[in-house]
Amino acid sequence: MLHMGLLDVCLPARCLACGAAYRYGERPGHELLQGYALCPSCRIQCEPVCAANRCNVCSVPVPRFIVVCERCRREAFAFQRAIAVHRYSGVAARVIESFKFGSHRSLGRFMAAELATVLADSFPSGAPLVPVPSSRASVRRRGFAGALVIARELARLTDSRLQELLRSRHARSQKALSYQDRRANALASLSLRPGAAVPVRAILVDDVLTTGATADSCARRLIEGGAKEVFLLAYAIEY
Ligand SMILES: [Zn+2]
Ligand SMILES: [Zn+2]
Repeated sequence: MLHMGLLDVCLPARCLACGAAYRYGERPGHELLQGYALCPSCRIQCEPVCAANRCNVCSVPVPRFIVVCERCRREAFAFQRAIAVHRYSGVAARVIESFKFGSHRSLGRFMAAELATVLADSFPSGAPLVPVPSSRASVRRRGFAGALVIARELARLTDSRLQELLRSRHARSQKALSYQDRRANALASLSLRPGAAVPVRAILVDDVLTTGATADSCARRLIEGGAKEVFLLAYAIEY
């Protein structure tokens, strides 16, 4: 999908969220969607996270005039700030599910393009992108490491540096567990890669932010390795 040729323009593509056939470039502006694998109407249905009413640290919605959510006031995450562009629901959830479980790798490019629009405004410039690692088992199952695909594409789009600093031994699915147990699991599973040159500031990249346990654990490992500030950028947030 990287190189769009004549065929791509002439043949209708199939939207990975709703299955509808659509053509690129039919209307002005739609040529921007080339290769994004989502039809224009699904694309606008992704519910954006409202920047005005979210926790300054973890991005969950907060009442008006509240800056930091209750959870973040109780116990600090190891990362400075997490930003997600969409709520994990509807089309945005289908995008992630198709990406993760349908092995539609090209959706990584679509997500990266959305993340590119907020990267420069939200985080310190020059900080390298660090993908949240996938376990070997999930890479085998899917054929690729999800966050790495997004981070690599995002690095290309924004001229940022990509650094694979972390590795994970276990799969990440731990839905039934409490936050504390999730974090204990994530911490036990995550480690710095041997010889990793940890920068002072780093931006973790992931597809979805759920409880923050994995992001927190990644940030902890980077801080142990010498990072001073760790941020997180995700395509979607679950709340
Ligand atoms: Zn669609
Ligand atoms: Zn918060």
